[in-house]
Amino acid sequence: MAFTRIVILVTLLLNFLGSTLLGQTQSSTKKDIDKLIYKASKLRESGNFEKSLLITRIALRKAIFIKNNELIAKNYNVVASNYNELMEFDKAIFYYNKALIFANLTSNDSIKERINNNLGNMYCFEKKKYEKGIEFYKKALEYSKAIPDSSQMALTNLNITWAYFDIGRFRNGKYNLDFLNRFHNKHEDSSTIVIRKMLNGMYYSYSKENDKADKYFLEAIKIGQEQNNKSDLSYAHLEYSKFLLKQKAYKEAYENLSLYNRLTEEMFAEVKSVKANIAGVNFELDEYKRAIDKIESEKYLQYKSLKKSRLIVLLFVIVLFVLLLFLNSLIKNNKYRRKSNLDLMHANKELIIANKKAEELSHLKTQFVSTISHELRTPLYGVVGITDLLLEEHQELATSPHLNSLKFSARYLLSLVNDILQINKMDENKIVLERLTFNILDELNMIKNSLSFIAQKNKNTIYIDVDPTIPESLIGDKLRFAQIFMNLVSNALKFTNNGEVWIVVKQTKIKGNIHTLEFSVEDNGIGIAPIDKDKIFDKFVQVGRKEIDYQGTGLGLSIVKRLLELFGSTISVESELGKGTVFRFAIDFEYDKVKATEIINDIDINLTFGQTFNVLIVEDNLINQVITKKTIERNNYSCTVVEDGYAALEILNTEVFDVILMDINMPLINGFETSRRIRQNGIETPIIALTAFDKNEITEEAIAAGMNDIIVKPFEPLQLFKIINCLIQNAKSVV
Ligand code: ADP
Repeated sequence: MAFTRIVILVTLLLNFLGSTLLGQTQSSTKKDIDKLIYKASKLRESGNFEKSLLITRIALRKAIFIKNNELIAKNYNVVASNYNELMEFDKAIFYYNKALIFANLTSNDSIKERINNNLGNMYCFEKKKYEKGIEFYKKALEYSKAIPDSSQMALTNLNITWAYFDIGRFRNGKYNLDFLNRFHNKHEDSSTIVIRKMLNGMYYSYSKENDKADKYFLEAIKIGQEQNNKSDLSYAHLEYSKFLLKQKAYKEAYENLSLYNRLTEEMFAEVKSVKANIAGVNFELDEYKRAIDKIESEKYLQYKSLKKSRLIVLLFVIVLFVLLLFLNSLIKNNKYRRKSNLDLMHANKELIIANKKAEELSHLKTQFVSTISHELRTPLYGVVGITDLLLEEHQELATSPHLNSLKFSARYLLSLVNDILQINKMDENKIVLERLTFNILDELNMIKNSLSFIAQKNKNTIYIDVDPTIPESLIGDKLRFAQIFMNLVSNALKFTNNGEVWIVVKQTKIKGNIHTLEFSVEDNGIGIAPIDKDKIFDKFVQVGRKEIDYQGTGLGLSIVKRLLELFGSTISVESELGKGTVFRFAIDFEYDKVKATEIINDIDINLTFGQTFNVLIVEDNLINQVITKKTIERNNYSCTVVEDGYAALEILNTEVFDVILMDINMPLINGFETSRRIRQNGIETPIIALTAFDKNEITEEAIAAGMNDIIVKPFEPLQLFKIINCLIQNAKSVV
């Protein structure tokens, strides 16, 4: 049976090579390779397997070199067909499979058809693995539909029909046989006619159409004899003898079987001579196989290095991609940064504008504070001064609690105004406590007296309990101290009815010259709810009590807290609703016996200074003129008053004074300008600025204008005389 298939294969290869020669590429290398393949095929056909394989090896090397899958597939196909002829079917299958792998990499359906067909032959007729073989045939038929050469399709149909009939699947095979018969009518082909006729005979034998079967077998034998095709003819005799046996025509069956045997013996004799060379050739072929394997492995290495280089390229592409992404993000980032920079610049511009506005506002506020403080201080200076004058001129009123209360209230009001207006300055820690000598009990009594009106209104009694061990004179800021108590006691009186308010002072510690005093202001009034205890010290906080109508700003306790912070103390509160409230705090006061005596002595010296000085007062406000004049004259100094700067300049041309008290805020020409002109005129008389402005605000300008010192209204007379004396003494010592 092997010979029949070989015949089909040879025909197939011829067609195959013919068509490949026709359809080969223009490339001369390809043409050369194709020529070599053709030559190898011819050599194989003529039984010169050794040479055929040698040429195939050269062709394969060239095909691999130019990486032409089609030519590689063709070469492997020739190698496989050589092994096929040499009946080394496993090797043949191996190389057909290789051929198929490369063929599948191409778009050449013709090669794919042929190799699948060849593999079908191998599996069906040599390995007897019909199912697998038929699968290859089916694939081959699929490819054959796309190729113009229908003779290939005919060959595969012939093979598949024979395979089906061999395994008794006549119905399956009939379909392909019909195609063959139709095709045969159109394209007369001598190479397939014997087998086709035989297959028809086999089918009709199966379908028991004996006449038809007989007719086809006889035709097959007749053509076979005419063509002298031993292989095809032998199979026709074999199948015919099987048919005759079924018909019980034993004699004819025997004759045909004998013919088959004779023909196969003849063919075997031919094969024998071929086979004789096979051993030697096989040895050579193994060599070639090794060479081919080497080429294969080279190819594999090439493939691997290709894969490697592909990997490198892939990695490069990935890295490039990542770099591009990075670049992109950098660009985006840059854009974003530029944008946010612009935004920031914009925001900065807005901030600068806002800052400017804030500065302007702050400047306005400062101006406002300064103006208001000046405007309020001036009339208060009048009230305080006139009260002093009243007390002085009318000695009988010196003991009047009303007048003393008025004086105290005026002073308190003045300091309160200052403090409220300076509450912002407190935030900036701009307030510095003064160091004055005072008596605790006197101060507290003063507070009690000044608040007696509210006490009476709410029918409350104020009690003062001062530890007798506390020294008479302590050093501290008595105005701020009074302010603390004014707030606490007035609150106690406001929120208590028909009750008692206790001001208690205890000396708890003495360390060197520092006396620690503990103060408490206690009432038995309405009390504070626990929830409100922390809030009451905040600015503008008033704990709402609708039923009680009272006056207040909500600033009192806030000022107390901040003032106590200046004293280095903290305030605490204990309270129970309906039972009363107690505020506690402790302050360290300095007691320096020597210092206290010095201050007292100073006062004596200053007030009893025997010399009479000539003082010029430059002041536009009439009340202030009176107050200052009276204060000066009270110390037996002579005094001249002028009401503006020009008048001062004029009088200074003719008269000599020991000291000039200069108001700052005057119409026509202010105190600074007047002082400047006085100095320009060569007059060196000491000038003291007497002003309602904050000292800090004007110091610089005052010095620049040639002034010698500043006193803020309302002033302590003692302080004024001290400065006057000091300046005059200095002026004289210079002279
Ligand atoms: P003002 O008295 O102007 O309202 P304060 O800051 O002095 O502001 O007080 C804040 C709040 O604390 C008051 O509104 C009041 O409700 C409460 N308070 C202060 N002292 C007392 C007190 N002795 N008894 C009861 N409540 C008080």
